[in-house]
Amino acid sequence: MQRPCGILRHMVRTLSHPGSSYDTLVAGAGPAGITCALEAASNGSRVLIVDSSSLPRDKSCGGMLNEYSQSFLAPFGEMPPELVLEPTYVHFRYHDWDRSIRKPTELRFLNVSRPGFDDWLLRSLPDNVDVVSSAPVVGFEQDDREVRVRLKLADGEREVTCSTLVGADGARSAVRRQLGIGGVSTYVTLQDYCRIDGEIEPFFDCIYIRDIGDSFGYGYVVPKGDVAIVGAVFYPKTRRPHERQERFLEILRDRLPLGQSTKREASVALYLRSPQDVVPGQGRVLLAGEAGGFISPTSGEGISYAMNSGRLAGRAIAAAHNGTTPLSLFSEATADIRANIVRKLRWLPFMESDWGKYLAGFVPSFVVSRITKGL
Ligand SMILES: Cc1cc2nc3c(=O)[nH]c(=O)nc-3n(C[C@H](O)[C@H](O)[C@H](O)COP(=O)(O)OP(=O)(O)OC[C@H]3O[C@@H](n4cnc5c(N)ncnc54)[C@H](O)[C@@H]3O)c2cc1C
Repeated sequence: MQRPCGILRHMVRTLSHPGSSYDTLVAGAGPAGITCALEAASNGSRVLIVDSSSLPRDKSCGGMLNEYSQSFLAPFGEMPPELVLEPTYVHFRYHDWDRSIRKPTELRFLNVSRPGFDDWLLRSLPDNVDVVSSAPVVGFEQDDREVRVRLKLADGEREVTCSTLVGADGARSAVRRQLGIGGVSTYVTLQDYCRIDGEIEPFFDCIYIRDIGDSFGYGYVVPKGDVAIVGAVFYPKTRRPHERQERFLEILRDRLPLGQSTKREASVALYLRSPQDVVPGQGRVLLAGEAGGFISPTSGEGISYAMNSGRLAGRAIAAAHNGTTPLSLFSEATADIRANIVRKLRWLPFMESDWGKYLAGFVPSFVVSRITKGL
């Protein structure tokens, strides 16, 4: 069973009300926001992190940590073993369902509980970071000296000032929207948690099926203890995605021992199409993680991009001094990530085409493995 990590829950030190002035205010307590807060606070400055959800939050996710994601974990200390689910490691596998072709790759993921993972990251923040739960950023104004941020609290709105605001508020970033620098459309994602009634192979299967229609991007199955996450990614504006998800489950059950679904989650993920979708910020406002467009457009893998861009945003804030702004340092530091995303965007038309998905079935496994590594 995917454990909600009860031991870790309720241990986050959260305030019900923030102070009125901080060096840095981070909107969003996901991996981008937490990593940013940790780095920004490393010089002893005062940091506030707020989240619109009540914490610990439960982000819909496969909880698959690639090796690059794992490389960002050292500053958080040792990961509690109870966050890791069975099987501990799973390899990514391309699966053309209609032709029964499976191409295992060398890409290996650590299999974690996503709610527990985020909670653990949050609890690792130092004392100079204040954490406020259920407090969405609802607006802000910036000038040469500061940013005045409006938070919605249970008892009304409250203004907090800061030198730098970081929008790490995910795929539907309110901070980015208010900057007016281009919203990005989003995939619709659905995930079911199905009991495993038998043996299931220890792979992170990425499944292509033609029978569900053109709006179906791909699906995936990943075992998590005694449940399997069965997810599907639909193109923006897909109508009746729940019906399509039911069809997907029905087809899979013909060959996989998937029992009843105990939970279904609906969420969104960025549908990056152009290099302009990746934006580091504006003025005194930085954008990290999905809010800034930092996610793999080809694989939907986003935790490493969130932690990497969050870390660089926090470092830019801590390092800025007279003459350099956090934004100029952050833009420079994220140039490589943008180049990586631009390169991946070139693959997208091929990967999303019927012939691209078809051809992958003929490519030898070691080549699929090599290509997937670059994606
Ligand atoms: C179904 C699904 C499965 C996925 N599986 C994987 C996977 O297996 N591996 C992987 O690497 N990636 C996966 N991803 C992608 C990954 O989850 C995201 O890219 C990653 O969580 C982005 O991190 P983030 O910190 O930028 O944003 P998020 O994790 O989305 O965090 C943003 C936070 O901001 C908060 N927020 C929103 N609005 C406001 C506001 N106005 N004020 C304050 N707070 C606000 C939200 O409550 C949220 O807590 C998956 C995504 C989806 C949708």
